[in-house]
Amino acid sequence: MSDTEAADLAEMPGDWRRALAVVAHPDDLEYGCAAAVASWTDAGKEVVYLLVSRGEAGIDTLAPERCGPLREREQRASAAVVGVGTVEFLDHRDGVIEYGTALRRDIAAAIRRHRPELVITLNHREGWGDGPGAPRNTPDHVAVGRAVLDAAADAGNRWIFPELAEDGLDPWDGVRWVAVAASSTPTHAVDAGPGLARAVDSLLCHRAYIEALTDQDLEEYVRGFLTETTGRTAGRFGGRPAVSFELFPR
Ligand SMILES: [Zn+2]
Repeated sequence: MSDTEAADLAEMPGDWRRALAVVAHPDDLEYGCAAAVASWTDAGKEVVYLLVSRGEAGIDTLAPERCGPLREREQRASAAVVGVGTVEFLDHRDGVIEYGTALRRDIAAAIRRHRPELVITLNHREGWGDGPGAPRNTPDHVAVGRAVLDAAADAGNRWIFPELAEDGLDPWDGVRWVAVAASSTPTHAVDAGPGLARAVDSLLCHRAYIEALTDQDLEEYVRGFLTETTGRTAGRFGGRPAVSFELFPR
């Protein structure tokens, strides 16, 4: 292997029962992760989605008060397609989500409520890739990803947010991994093949959002996007299209 060639990705751990996926916006999980989620729920695992905002600032032509409820409906429908029945919203303001103790506390509370072994989030780094020319990540993704990595530890410490225990949420120190999707330095992957068709249907549920993004036929756009991104990982995963994650063990 040359220096420029990246190492093979390891198979994601499978010895867990409950996962909590925490992202900033409706659609963040459907742009990739959903194929992995479909495989997990097929295997009898429980996956819960926690959305930090309702994505109400996501469509230029639609005012937030109409956009928020619409995107919430689309998110619930897209979750159901991949076997996720529980979708919660934290109601931080879309576009100006702030990294800080309020966000960490809200996420830690959800971790204590749902007691996951695996926590999933989206790229928390400044860019979508390495190097100076990489496209910038959005501040919401950075804030949420960082807060998730912190909250996985906060959830287990009774002294960090003692008010949570007073509300009946006992510490949960059972998070074994935080998996960051769309990282430019992934370490693990899940075969996207079995879940790919449902991932396409799941992303298509965000119809209002995607219609505002592209003039292309929606199904063609969505299938093309997911086939391309999962295919890009195949070279490092035995030729199989895959969803990649950077795994932080705890
Ligand atoms: Zn987003």
